[in-house]
Amino acid sequence: MTLTRREFTRLSALGIAASVAPSLPAQSSSTKTGYAIIGLGRIADHFMAGILNTSNSRVAALVSGHRDKAERIAAQYGVPSESIYSYEKFDEIAKNKDVQAVYVALPNSMHAEYTIRAAKAGKHVLCEKPMSTSVADAEAMIAACKAANVKLMIAYRCHYEPTNLKAVQLIRSGAIGQVQAIESAFGFPIAAGEWRLNKNLSGGGPLVDVGIYALNACRYLTGEEPAHISAFASVIDHDGRFNTVEENVSWTMKFPSGIVASCNTTYGALMGGYFRVHGPKGWVAADPAFNYDGNRLLASFDGKQLDEPNPARDPYQFTAQADHFSHCIQYGLEPKTPGEEGLRDMRYIAEIYRSAGLTLG
Ligand code: NAD
Repeated sequence: MTLTRREFTRLSALGIAASVAPSLPAQSSSTKTGYAIIGLGRIADHFMAGILNTSNSRVAALVSGHRDKAERIAAQYGVPSESIYSYEKFDEIAKNKDVQAVYVALPNSMHAEYTIRAAKAGKHVLCEKPMSTSVADAEAMIAACKAANVKLMIAYRCHYEPTNLKAVQLIRSGAIGQVQAIESAFGFPIAAGEWRLNKNLSGGGPLVDVGIYALNACRYLTGEEPAHISAFASVIDHDGRFNTVEENVSWTMKFPSGIVASCNTTYGALMGGYFRVHGPKGWVAADPAFNYDGNRLLASFDGKQLDEPNPARDPYQFTAQADHFSHCIQYGLEPKTPGEEGLRDMRYIAEIYRSAGLTLG
């Protein structure tokens, strides 16, 4: 599929450009957006592998507390050793002309600090979800990027994932009629010792980590913002893992049209990420919906049954995400999932916790 630049820009505005972006003309490495990867953990591995499949992005620098690990990864991605930074020396990145953007892949409570430092260094920011561990931090991140005139995008990879996009498209087309109700959930049994169980680093439990996928999905599936939220949280396993964060959260949301959504998240059980959307003419689901690959669209309407597994393999979502952000940087466009999108989720998460008698951060 070949697209003109004008067609690409139009698709980009519809949020579906990322899935077709590889057909843009290949760019030389000097015109590729260079990313500094901040935090070389699990998700950074997926993102860097995803970048390799883009035509418009490259890994240009690494920020890590472990020089030996950084040297190893630098060799793999062709990053010069002078472009490896410690956290303490990070601000020197301002002078690095090979770096136009950063990818913040640190524990949640560090997102605000490194986003703001990157903005002050004049770099665009792609920040992992959850955006922050407080509403005030999310607001400060947006303000810092605006003041520095750099772009801020939150890494909501499902916005760039064909199964999720097709579900949205089917719902908007009226295939199942006026949506009435949604169920969505995501959770996994967490191992002891994870930073995710330390509220100072995570800001919360499964809600901020994976429940956020269900929350965000209910918003893009309906195209509405929740007007009312009500929630319960609990800890069942008193084995030392849940001294500072919750184990389970169950919440309901009512949207302005009257759509009701019922969501669950847990760190105590394998709760495959899925959603199911019900209307008078049928239903649309994705199960799984939020995995790195193997997502599957299911639907029933008009006497038709859809069962469409997405054959794309990891790291395709990370490729699409990097491709989209680099495209926005290169052509002066607003990302589909800007800081404001992350801020909205942080406000709803704060409200869910408040309703459940807990606090965010
Ligand atoms: P991880 O533990 O694998 O990696 C975290 C990195 O941060 C490590 O390189 C670690 O050395 C570094 N770090 C720096 N200071 C640290 C500190 N004080 N404590 C712990 N680590 C420190 O974590 P991860 O799973 O890669 O998660 C990183 C971020 O990415 C989180 O915000 C998480 O929510 C997000 N994430 C997103 C997705 C997604 O699909 N978009 C998936 C997983 C994680």
